[in-house]
Amino acid sequence: MFEEKITRWCKAPAPIGRSHFIKHFLAGFGAAVILSACDSTSNTSSSSSNGNSQQTATAGKTIKVATDGTFPPFVFKGTGNEIVGFDIDVIKAVAKVAGMTIEFQTMPFDGMIPALQANTVDAAVAAMTITPERAQTISFSRPYFKAGLAIAVRQDNATITNLDSLKGKKIAAQIGTTGAKKARSISGAEVREFDSAPLTLQELANGNVDAAIHDAPAIQEAIKTGNIKSIKVVGELVTEEYYGFALPKNSPNLNAINTALTKIISDGTYAQIYKKWFASEPVKLPESVPGSS
Ligand code: GLN
Repeated sequence: MFEEKITRWCKAPAPIGRSHFIKHFLAGFGAAVILSACDSTSNTSSSSSNGNSQQTATAGKTIKVATDGTFPPFVFKGTGNEIVGFDIDVIKAVAKVAGMTIEFQTMPFDGMIPALQANTVDAAVAAMTITPERAQTISFSRPYFKAGLAIAVRQDNATITNLDSLKGKKIAAQIGTTGAKKARSISGAEVREFDSAPLTLQELANGNVDAAIHDAPAIQEAIKTGNIKSIKVVGELVTEEYYGFALPKNSPNLNAINTALTKIISDGTYAQIYKKWFASEPVKLPESVPGSS
């Protein structure tokens, strides 16, 4: 069944409809167009060295960046099958300032932390939420995006209205995500986990689960683009989360990436990229996740 679904997504990638997403994003939601959950392929993209003297530690360095092709508008496959998205534009701008060249490698989201721990990649860029638990084994850049989890149900469901009403229910979530962790914390819930956001939300649309918990942007865009039919978001955001670039613990590249990210936030480059994808001014980002040390 899984195989079948993956094949279907690969054969019929959905079009990208960014414009619908914008209003919702302003309300604290983001978006995701549902694309393929295809096999892992690599594509390479370069950012030229700018010879910035502050970045001598990284100038000329090629870094391997793990990403995911199924999480628009953050990371997804474009029409030419290349990896595109908000996150991709931000990391490319960061790499340009830091004088790094990026080599992207796609992999399932739940493979990224193990890959960072094994040092087979130098970074993971995939709408990854900064959590204290993850920060024990990997390092994060400063936040580059504010997001949060939401609950989705089928449109005809009037009984699930918040986390409390999910007790004892069947919930779909994506393997290795904050949404899956939240789902497993609900007492008596039966959690079914899938490889990608599209597969998770499709399981809900198919009527096999009562609800799904995932990043609000992913759910909102699936709804707006009509890629997943007959589902809706209920209640308020379940969490407030910040995305960060993930690196191996104490990576030598961390300072250069943070310095470059701070630079593109202050010089307007980040705002330009944000407006390109979300058609609004960026939310002001904290230097670290609020409440963390
Ligand atoms: N933000 C979520 C997490 O970090 C999901 C990310 C994703 O599926 N790419 O767990």
